Amino acid sequence: MKAVLIEKFQELPKLVEVNDPTPETHGVVIKVEATGVCRSDWHGWMGHDKDIDLPHVPGHELAGVITAVGKNVSNWKTGDRVTVPFISGCGSCSECHAGHQQVCHNQEQPGFTHWGSFAEYVGIHQADLNLVALPENMDFATAASLGCRFATSFRAVVDQGKVSAGQWVAVHGCGGVGLSAIMIANAVGANVIAIDIDDKKLALAKNLGAVATLNGAAVADVPEAVIELTKGGAHVSLDALGHPMTCFNSIQNLRPRGKHIQVGLMLGDHTTPQVPMAKVIGKELEVLGSHGMQAYRYGAMLDMISSGKLDPSRLVGNRISLEEAPEALINMDKFQSLGATVITSF
Ligand SMILES: [Zn+2]
Ligand SMILES: [Zn+2]
Repeated sequence: MKAVLIEKFQELPKLVEVNDPTPETHGVVIKVEATGVCRSDWHGWMGHDKDIDLPHVPGHELAGVITAVGKNVSNWKTGDRVTVPFISGCGSCSECHAGHQQVCHNQEQPGFTHWGSFAEYVGIHQADLNLVALPENMDFATAASLGCRFATSFRAVVDQGKVSAGQWVAVHGCGGVGLSAIMIANAVGANVIAIDIDDKKLALAKNLGAVATLNGAAVADVPEAVIELTKGGAHVSLDALGHPMTCFNSIQNLRPRGKHIQVGLMLGDHTTPQVPMAKVIGKELEVLGSHGMQAYRYGAMLDMISSGKLDPSRLVGNRISLEEAPEALINMDKFQSLGATVITSF
């Protein structure tokens, strides 16, 4: 099969021929029909992820059709249209038993712990636990955008943030994660404030349901501006970018007993940001993480998509070919694209 191979960190990956994957006894092989290009792939390529062994095929936001099934798989057959959360649980550890596959002790992540979906085919472990069936009317590019950004944002807003109607929600950073969170928080009835330094992204945020926008470069103090707009601070606030500044602002702009959700990944130099812990104590704030979403929680999200309350297809930007993927991957740190870049021809 054709695959994008990283042979050395920070060197342009190549499109090469490699052996097709075969399914493990509990796994499947999926013919990739669409796969998103994500900032996490860029971090992997930079060498920021200790799980990656070279040579390596990136790609974790995938959707496709099952072409081969391991002998111990009972719920899936060839021809099924599926997607998969970017974190796959092992099915045997205490977290998996408790239903928290997103923090599994022995988790697999396609494109990180094993070869991913910048290829014609990808193998997925523990298929019965981790695969999600796609609704018939959902196209593969939209489905590919669910597994990482959209599902993580759904979990952040609905399961971790427990956002309810009428609450103020601040979203710091209007990339893929932030725009997804804005759409989801708006759909559950919250008043959303979108914060970014790019007016084009803020315009899109408004379009997706934000009731107010703030250009972080144009105001002197972002937390103060949010507190003023919300008359006391956000009930729930998300760092959707993953940066020490947006993390700090997101905690600092909360009202008493508010919740900060860290959704953007903190990698490289950003792993230990400064946090206003005095405010966390004094105002009884909650600080939570959101890291992917369990396969069994996809049902609620897919139902909201099928009924038209959520429309992740609005977040799909450029569609590119596998041949164009290496260039797209190495340029992911440049923040240029509105909407997610998705590989749709192989
Ligand atoms: Zn991703
Ligand atoms: Zn597990």
